[in-house]
Amino acid sequence: MKLVHSGKVRELYLDESVDPAELLLVASDRLSIYDVVLPTPVPDKGAILTALSLFWFDRTADLVPNHVIGTHDVPAEFAGRAVRCRPLEMLPVECIARGYLTGLGLKEYQKNGTVSGVRLPDGLVEGSRLPEPIFTPTTKAAVGEHDEFMTFDEVVALVGADTAEQLRALTLEVYRRGAESAAAGGILVADTKLEFGRDTDGGIVLGDEVLTPDSSRFWPADSYEPGRQQFSFDKQYVRDWSADLDWDRTAPGPEVPDDVVKVVQDRYAEVYRRITGSVWESPVGS
Ligand code: ATP
Ligand code: MG
Repeated sequence: MKLVHSGKVRELYLDESVDPAELLLVASDRLSIYDVVLPTPVPDKGAILTALSLFWFDRTADLVPNHVIGTHDVPAEFAGRAVRCRPLEMLPVECIARGYLTGLGLKEYQKNGTVSGVRLPDGLVEGSRLPEPIFTPTTKAAVGEHDEFMTFDEVVALVGADTAEQLRALTLEVYRRGAESAAAGGILVADTKLEFGRDTDGGIVLGDEVLTPDSSRFWPADSYEPGRQQFSFDKQYVRDWSADLDWDRTAPGPEVPDDVVKVVQDRYAEVYRRITGSVWESPVGS
């Protein structure tokens, strides 16, 4: 298999031994914060992200076709964290849905009263629930750059009106499905990022990963309280830990101590349990 892409967290291999060629999307245990990959892996992270994505691809297949072919014929070294998928021509838009205001969305709102050109009511604060979920697309930044908000018109200019409408509708439908389903496990989906591409017939297909703690902010519903930072089942714990270090948020990142790794690993496993209803069982027995 030929390595065709190595990102911060995942590798893509092209398997030309089958016809038509298939991709193997492999999630590593790497953790990145502030776009810097930390030197310390989080055991099981890649497997949990892979399992959650498969869970959601299955539960959104009636809304949008997805890239999944299956998990057969995966080399032993990638066991549990690789998916065979259809190669797509990815669309150059990060499709973000937000149901709550935080992070860069909140910053943008505080500056302009809008996010991606969507006007929001006055008086919203950290963590506010939005009147309805909104589509806040961004650019896909090149390596070393950060994503920028795009207005809907900018998406139209890039991919055409029909495709832009479809991306918005599909992103919001998948978000709503995810938010509704996660609520059963006491989880609020504050926001999520999706990536779509085109298959060889030109149809729009959901690719990448779906509703994972790397692509979404998950908050426990029982402690939700707008006006302050929420407890988050994702990398926030590592960001908070790193805030006390003398680190300028550029590479190389700091080594993460075992106890911090353990907290992150437990949070990923906990979110898996809350979303799927099944206890996380490590495929590598770590
Ligand atoms: P980073 O996450 O480090 O900013 P990245 O998003 O490029 O960079 P990863 O998320 O680690 O890297 O790797 C996944 C890559 O695979 C993404 O570029 C994503 O767009 C691409 N991808 C996902 N699914 C498919 C697919 N079915 N066909 C082609 N490319 C895909
Ligand atoms: Mg990515």
